[in-house]
Amino acid sequence: MPNPSAGVMRRMMSVAVGQEVADEYVPMLLQQMAFEPAPKPELVPPEAAAGFRVLIIGAGMSGIAAAIKLGEAGIPYSILEKNDDVGGTWYENRYPGCAVDTPNHFYQFSFEPNNRWPRYYSRRESIHAYLRSCADKYGVRKHIRFGEEVVSAVFDEDAHVWRVTSRKADGQERVEVANALICAVGQLNRPAIPAIPGLDTFVGEVVHTARWTEDTAIAGKRVALIGTGASAVQVGPAIAAEVRSLHVLQRSGAWIVRSPNLHRAVPGAKVWALDNVPFYAPWYRFQLFWGFGDGLFQALRIDPKWLGPPGTISALNEDLRERMLRHIRRELEGREDLLEKVVPDYPPFGKRVLADAGWFAMLRRDNVSLDTTGIAKVEPKGIRLDDDRLIELDTIVLATGFQAGRMLWPMDIRGRGGRSIREAWGEDDPRAYLGITVPDFPNLFVMYGPNTNLGHGGSAMFLAECQIRYILSSLRTMLDDGIAEIECRRDIHDAYNRRIDAEFETLVWTHPSVKSWYKNAQGRITTNQPWRLIDYWRLTQSFDPAEYNKIPA
Ligand code: NAP
Repeated sequence: MPNPSAGVMRRMMSVAVGQEVADEYVPMLLQQMAFEPAPKPELVPPEAAAGFRVLIIGAGMSGIAAAIKLGEAGIPYSILEKNDDVGGTWYENRYPGCAVDTPNHFYQFSFEPNNRWPRYYSRRESIHAYLRSCADKYGVRKHIRFGEEVVSAVFDEDAHVWRVTSRKADGQERVEVANALICAVGQLNRPAIPAIPGLDTFVGEVVHTARWTEDTAIAGKRVALIGTGASAVQVGPAIAAEVRSLHVLQRSGAWIVRSPNLHRAVPGAKVWALDNVPFYAPWYRFQLFWGFGDGLFQALRIDPKWLGPPGTISALNEDLRERMLRHIRRELEGREDLLEKVVPDYPPFGKRVLADAGWFAMLRRDNVSLDTTGIAKVEPKGIRLDDDRLIELDTIVLATGFQAGRMLWPMDIRGRGGRSIREAWGEDDPRAYLGITVPDFPNLFVMYGPNTNLGHGGSAMFLAECQIRYILSSLRTMLDDGIAEIECRRDIHDAYNRRIDAEFETLVWTHPSVKSWYKNAQGRITTNQPWRLIDYWRLTQSFDPAEYNKIPA
């Protein structure tokens, strides 16, 4: 059957995942899974695009996606990138064990499927190579000015343009003018260095996971690992056999699940099938998309009628918790001391659920210790714990995450009336419409901005595709209708933010037992979105001009 109807597709999809797949998914899945050829953006007539310029900040995954789609639409653009290569987070993060924890055949652009991933969850080098190849294939590189960090962007209301100042390492500055500005710097770009007293007095090396370099030497050293998040659970197992001792300092436990394919290479037969068996690749991607995406969303919902033990939120979440616990118990059998420390005191999905890259096996090693006693201070020779013990160390590894809520920092971005984004958002309360547009900041688009992070599953590449589709639709409206300025209406923006805040009240992230970087100092969720993938895909399908104030050219 060459062209099955939507109904037949839905039934086939339901059989493929052993769950009812609703009609609403069919159009998205057909497109995202590349069952149908990826639709290319309609070309903007050259005369309409002439003189119009888009500036993208950042050549990471979002920036590359934006560049590819702008290029296909014939909209002139340039990119400023502070690093000397593309890839963003996959370029910068070089700690041992760094790899994707979402299946790779799903963690890729839908318009650029890759059947040649070496592993089911490839290492950073492979993902960096993939992003580099995308930049090369679509001719993006020639539009990038590397080694230029944007320091400020000021909206010129008279000329309706952004004046963007960038700085090179030698201090040389230059100003570029753009009709529209796309900030694609991500949420996970600026490391969070914990304010531990005395950290700067330590005589050994202090290294944040995102600042690890080829010169970071840990072999034979006494190493502390602060943190138990996604970076920590990869770096710990990767270095444990090499170091003299590894002291894990845990503030809170993480839900870590069994992930049998995590270290497996993709066998040759699978690669052959992906390449040669008609429709095998899209069906395989679909199963991953479901299993690591919306299939998990219900587990986030707090069931108001649930009468389970304190700290649990629903029957489904509780069932997953039991399954995760079984894995942890199996891994730590006979080590009640460890078990007591590692089991989280909040429901699964309160924080990112992590894949087990050998974390529990690492904890059982003779040269590894796990401490849950707080850190009092750092001294020249090591870390002093709250119980006054001193752990003598050569190296402190900070797997302490990023300043995610302080979005777009440290750039000085000024919109209407010279108002800065920090005045609009404060230190840690970023808000935007659909995570993309902000009142008072005309012609500004944010990718991976406020309330867009995916907390149940999904892939950041999917997110980038949704956002650039919306942004392109906005730019096309500007060009087609001769609009010089578009600015999100405040009432639309505020209503959207009220709506997402209300949604959060029903989700695990606002549960009182959960403390995470998803929340700001006031307890508001600022990084994550409360949507299923299908919801965000639909919300960003197209730009509605009625939701924007417009100034004609
Ligand atoms: P993270 O999830 O923010 O984890 C930071 C860890 O450091 C937490 O365990 C935190 O404890 C601890 N911590 C922070 N400050 C501390 C302090 N002062 N004292 C003691 N402990 C402290 O950071 P991350 O692991 O770098 O991950 C961030 C995000 O990056 C992830 O959620 C994910 O989106 C992405 N990521 C993805 C991958 C992948 O795909 N494989 C890999 C790495 C990162 P608390 O939990 O108690 O706050």
